[in-house]
Amino acid sequence: MNVLVINCGSSSLKYQVIDSETEEVLAKGLCERIGIDGRLVYQNKKNGGEKEVSEVAMPTHKQAIQLVLDAIVNPKTGVLKDLSEIGAVGHRVVHGGEKFASSTILNEEVLKAVEECNDLAPLHNPANLIGIRACQELMPNVPMVGVFDTAFHQTMPEKAYLYGIDYDYYEKYKIRRYGFHGTSHSYVSKRAAEMLGKPYDQVKTIVCHLGNGASVCAVENGKSVDTSMGLTPLEGLIMGTRSGNIDPGAMEYLAKKENLNLEQVVQILNKKSGLEGLSHISSDLRDVRSAAEEGKPEGIRALEAFCYHIAKYIGAYTAAMNGVDVICFTAGIGENAGGIRSKICNYLGYLGLKMDEEANKVEGEERIISAADSKVTVMCIPTNEELAIARETVALVTK
Ligand code: ADP
Repeated sequence: MNVLVINCGSSSLKYQVIDSETEEVLAKGLCERIGIDGRLVYQNKKNGGEKEVSEVAMPTHKQAIQLVLDAIVNPKTGVLKDLSEIGAVGHRVVHGGEKFASSTILNEEVLKAVEECNDLAPLHNPANLIGIRACQELMPNVPMVGVFDTAFHQTMPEKAYLYGIDYDYYEKYKIRRYGFHGTSHSYVSKRAAEMLGKPYDQVKTIVCHLGNGASVCAVENGKSVDTSMGLTPLEGLIMGTRSGNIDPGAMEYLAKKENLNLEQVVQILNKKSGLEGLSHISSDLRDVRSAAEEGKPEGIRALEAFCYHIAKYIGAYTAAMNGVDVICFTAGIGENAGGIRSKICNYLGYLGLKMDEEANKVEGEERIISAADSKVTVMCIPTNEELAIARETVALVTK
């Protein structure tokens, strides 16, 4: 079956067409600047085609998706003859609250429940819903599935998801840890068990998803038992532009000193902090790393803090699971930056962890990067959220 995978944001939309039998990506691309002017990127992966970029007006998401569908069936560069060859659409949905512990077929009742989660992810969920509605209008007879970033973490025990605040706030407003990147943490931890040749339900894994957004997840016997992101994706690690953990008291202090309101402070923590805020260079790890390699203190301090916080979480999650068998690195930084993986693992000698520095030179490939006599296996595993979404989608629509 051919599955169209859609990840719809407020002004952009990523898509892939995946043949679920061969798991081959037939086409992929993105729409950018939706509602502003519009830019369509399309790549026919089937014949190894180059990326085609066209500036084309897309005032609405529906028009953007129409352009994507036109490109997919374009007689010259398309990968399908007819839209009827799309068997299902899988949508990434950021927040499923406590309502969704797994992926689900999207019907009116489910969409209402997703809408009720909008308050929890005001930047993401409404955009996800717009993408779903637009696809439904353009492909009314094609089954659609929602795959939630939060779903995998719904197995967390109460002690891990409750914050130390008045329990009434949890009961009234559902303020708690939800966690994100669930599709990636699930995919990577499963792959790790497969690569080890061990049953998924008998391995203790820590997954470090290190991209612009970054989170760590403790997966015990196939279940997420803790994760660093919380009610929102702001909690946890130092990220590209997000601060991660800070003393909530610092927010009031900063607001007073700089004469800001709460929204402005949160905006700073989301957009002007993290690697960018610490380094004053860039939110992109490569730029920060280059500066550090040149000996610039602003690069060094950002990089050191970034790695230290990750190592602390690995220590915490080893305690949470009373041990760890595998540590996995994934996403842009985790997959490609061997030096960063080494720096993090240098904190973990007490676990009996030893790296294989030659193997750790790997970029963007699945590989064991710890030494043969290491007590903990360390792996580089490229994530593939689109494939995971396609698999979930097919599983549900063929049930
Ligand atoms: P997201 O999907 O969250 O936007 P990505 O997973 O694409 O993010 O990761 C982006 C990050 O990965 C950036 O900080 C970038 O610098 C880093 N990155 C990408 N390629 C490399 C590389 N070859 N070496 C080091 N870092 C890299």
